[in-house]
Amino acid sequence: MGLSKCTKCGREAIITLKYSGLLLCKRDFTSFFERRVKRTIAENKYIQSGDRIAVALSGGKDSVSVLYLLDKFNKMNGENVELFAITINQGIKGYDEKLLENAKYVTKLLGIKHYIFSFKDEIKYTIDEIAEIAKVRPGLCNYCGVFKRYILNKKARELGATKLATGHNLDDEVESALLNFIEGSITRIVRGEGLISNKKFVKRIKPLKKSPEEEVMLYAQLIFPTLNFDLECPYRKEVIRKDVKGIIDELEHKHPGIRYQILESYEKIRKAMLLGANVSKEVKECKICGEVSSKDICNACELKLKLEDELKQTVFNIKPRL
Ligand code: SF4
Ligand code: ZN
Repeated sequence: MGLSKCTKCGREAIITLKYSGLLLCKRDFTSFFERRVKRTIAENKYIQSGDRIAVALSGGKDSVSVLYLLDKFNKMNGENVELFAITINQGIKGYDEKLLENAKYVTKLLGIKHYIFSFKDEIKYTIDEIAEIAKVRPGLCNYCGVFKRYILNKKARELGATKLATGHNLDDEVESALLNFIEGSITRIVRGEGLISNKKFVKRIKPLKKSPEEEVMLYAQLIFPTLNFDLECPYRKEVIRKDVKGIIDELEHKHPGIRYQILESYEKIRKAMLLGANVSKEVKECKICGEVSSKDICNACELKLKLEDELKQTVFNIKPRL
């Protein structure tokens, strides 16, 4: 059997895009991928001259690609946009160290200022420590996600960022859409992206939201062939998101392009709901820490209080050894 040929130039293809029928070689895939990210940025008016963009850099394939691409476009356009990276060390042994290595390598290579913060310093507990508190375990990712978003927003703002770029890809977006339905998170569905207006909230941008996960992986591997992106958080197996991902993967395999269709339908539903739902654009400020919140006390402070409560009980329940 002969090798498959690139639909555009006839060279050896490295990927088949089932949803479009295209087979692409390395060069044509790279430019196809980059054009789509550029289009996403333009269509969503993500970047304006004078922006100071903080990139949430975990060190995984997605965030590394976002940082690389924003830097590349920035240099190409000669725009007056400043970029810097923020990495949050969650304190997950055997996982965070490897990600941090990637993040340090990429920022050094691109000459981008890199700030590193940790759960331990900001929240007092690492994820490994939080996981030790048995009752917290089923909702561990909720703690992790809430604290991560909290620290990122706070630090990005304190460092003067006008935008916070994250690595969310198409699959992440579809997963979140389905999870929002499963959990009935009306406010989250209706607010969608960019409907929060508060001076303490740094506007999010997601340049990869139209890029399928497998393509981001291929792109990151082509750009940084020496880095290891085959990393998975040891706690991920416990997450409902992973099961939702399994369903989406199966659907996409049987019906190529369905991920785009789900997001389009989601957007339609969101717009229809927006007309009828009474969801305010304004958010409050937390009574404890002053950060942005939809309630009187923000999710991060609420979880911190819950953790401290659990910890007290754990200490209380330890029986003295006889
Ligand atoms: Fe955090 Fe859960 Fe993601 Fe692991 S899988 S990094 S615990 S959110
Ligand atoms: Zn080609």
